[in-house]
Amino acid sequence: MLRIYNTLTREIEEFKPSEEGLVKAYFCGPTPYDHVHVGHARAFVSFDFLRRYLILKGYNVLYVQNITDIDDKIIRKAQESNVSWRDVAETYTREYLELMDKLRVEIDLHPKVTEHIEDIIRFIEVLIERGHAYVVPSGSVYFDVTTYKDYGRLSGRISLEEWRQEEEFLREKRNPFDFALWKAVKPGEPYWNSPWGPGRPGWHIECSVMSSKYLGDTIDIHGGGQDLIFPHHENERAQSEAYFGKSPWVRYWVHVGSLTLVGEKMSKSLGNIIRLSEAISRWGPEVLRLWIFSVHYRRPLEYREESLEQASLTYKRLVNAYEVLLKLIKERPLEHRLGDRELEVWKTLAEVWQEFTRSLDNDLNTPKALAVLHRLLSVINAEVVNLESSSLAFKALTTLELMDRVLGILPRREEILRSYEELEELIKLIVEIRSRLRHKKMYEESDWIRAELSKLGIRLADTKEGTKWYFERYLRSAKSS
Ligand SMILES: [Zn+2]
Repeated sequence: MLRIYNTLTREIEEFKPSEEGLVKAYFCGPTPYDHVHVGHARAFVSFDFLRRYLILKGYNVLYVQNITDIDDKIIRKAQESNVSWRDVAETYTREYLELMDKLRVEIDLHPKVTEHIEDIIRFIEVLIERGHAYVVPSGSVYFDVTTYKDYGRLSGRISLEEWRQEEEFLREKRNPFDFALWKAVKPGEPYWNSPWGPGRPGWHIECSVMSSKYLGDTIDIHGGGQDLIFPHHENERAQSEAYFGKSPWVRYWVHVGSLTLVGEKMSKSLGNIIRLSEAISRWGPEVLRLWIFSVHYRRPLEYREESLEQASLTYKRLVNAYEVLLKLIKERPLEHRLGDRELEVWKTLAEVWQEFTRSLDNDLNTPKALAVLHRLLSVINAEVVNLESSSLAFKALTTLELMDRVLGILPRREEILRSYEELEELIKLIVEIRSRLRHKKMYEESDWIRAELSKLGIRLADTKEGTKWYFERYLRSAKSS
């Protein structure tokens, strides 16, 4: 049973979706006005992990992540760079989608705000009819937070009474914490026509509208970065529960911690950004994923070279173990009877998998799960490689592949086998060349070849039956050539 932290109740709760077997999940996506940075990747990859884990546990998952393709920041960027706001949104949306694909983040639907203006207008009309929203002379529409009694509970902010004393009333709003559902057009800005005049949607309304359009009036998991809890999610919750007249609209609120760079939150406004495209070309998408999982999703994650290097080492170790297993299975005779020692290792492998899922069931404890992965790699290297059992190699391989269904980092089997076969052919050729040189007593050249191959981890042994070669990392599987 998965247990997950719910920001609303501040407790780790048993996860039960509203419909058996189906999880409806919505995660707040990007505003495409600039390059995607590593902080975004952290949030999206963490949620992708949750989605994969739910699927692994047998749920169907419907996963929607919006794109805020009209916003103040997009308009400002367009004015600064003298291009249309649509071009700005289009350029960065493409970049975002390409990078998510590289990171193996899988999303079912990416609704954009500008494709849902009609739906948004209808939603606002209902809120006005029911007395939750009001139109002001400028043509803007605001949500009246005093009509929603539970306002402030998600973020744990102070009560409405205190707020009123604290903040000055802003020009056209009734209460300082009322928020715009519809913004009347300003000169030079894009607009759509509405019953209240030309304008565009406020930021928060899109998520209530698009999530309910595709997922219905109850969402199982609504997620986002922790910085979205207030005001964005507080406002989404208020307008949705007011609209549907029921609670809870969202069963579990899940929030991902921030990404920091030398202690500071990575954000555009602080100017301490590391572009995701740069991080991917430097470390590779798989290493970035592993690094993201090395810290629990609710805690801050720091962008540090050392921790990325650590993830990089883990990744190499993982791929190496995978290669070794694939090769062992290909070459060892099939036999299924396990001796005492083998039976013990087989049981250990089963335990490792249980421990892995137990860690993740506990509010997605990925650092613990990675420790379990390391344990698996040790068992593979110390036991599975040395015992003559293809059954054990199979068991280890399936365990590794099962883990990868959530980690999402292993290369495909065919890729590994193909590159291995190509490499094998190449080594055979080099060994043959060396034999011919030796035949002609050109020992200096043949010794040089042996030394160079050795540097690459390929060992040669000249025997009566000819030269044998083997990879140092596959100790027990010598190959003759
Ligand atoms: Zn949102």
